[in-house]
Amino acid sequence: MQYCDLNSKTAIVTGASRGIGKAIALKLASNGATVVLVSRNEEELNTVKSQIESSNGTAMVIPADVSDSEAFMQLVNSVSESRDSVDILINNAGITRDNLIMRMKDEDWDAVMNVNLKSCYNGIKAVTRPMMKNKGGRIVNISSVIGQIGNAGQGNYAASKAGIIGLTKSMAKELGSRNITVNAVAPGYISTEMTDNLDENVKDKMLASIPLGRLGSGEDVANLVCFLVSENASYITGQTFNVDGGMVMY
Ligand code: NAP
Repeated sequence: MQYCDLNSKTAIVTGASRGIGKAIALKLASNGATVVLVSRNEEELNTVKSQIESSNGTAMVIPADVSDSEAFMQLVNSVSESRDSVDILINNAGITRDNLIMRMKDEDWDAVMNVNLKSCYNGIKAVTRPMMKNKGGRIVNISSVIGQIGNAGQGNYAASKAGIIGLTKSMAKELGSRNITVNAVAPGYISTEMTDNLDENVKDKMLASIPLGRLGSGEDVANLVCFLVSENASYITGQTFNVDGGMVMY
């Protein structure tokens, strides 16, 4: 059996315009899913759509701010109407607004909680009805190793990513009887625009803490996500899986 056969499935991927979300969208599309690309930047999403179509995949673009619950509900409703089902949701969109606690502004705390954590709540709430109607579904929330081990200067980010793990476990318990699995993926240090902006000192320290001695790629994360949303992962729910080169071990 192919490890990730997604033919006839519809997958919503948030934060699909670049980085990890784009890698996940390309991977799901290359395994047969029709991918709904979501972020705030329509132009960037259209570029990803063209890339998917040039490899004979299928994609739709829906620009939306995922921290807005009404916008998320509308986008899910329009996908349900046009595609008849929503099989997969990948809550990947995320931001950082780093600062030490004494300097952190309330708006930076709120923005990170809203985009990283509330968006997952918005998305799960919106897809639950169509997934129940469909008698099943797959939800993957992108957390972070920082939500597990914390990081100075990232109190808001760490809290949002730890919150995602708690939300994932609760939703797995709540939706398991409906054949909807909910898992989290915690990437370590993945090379994207988010990490390109980090200070060189911070980057060197992080690299020294990775047993595999290299940064991860979006595709490293996408490979696991693709398995988790496939039929082969039907008995896996409520878990958090690290893709971090061995950075955090339990
Ligand atoms: P990135 O390159 O900065 O991409 C972030 C994506 O989220 C973009 O597509 C962005 O698109 C979208 N986004 C941001 N705010 C949004 C909003 N309000 N509504 C809709 N979309 C929004 O980040 P990345 O490195 O790929 O990270 C992706 C996820 O992995 C994040 O949740 C991040 O916390 C997590 N993660 C990353 C790393 C890493 O090392 N890179 C490690 C652990 C976890 P627009 O700005 O165009 O809307």
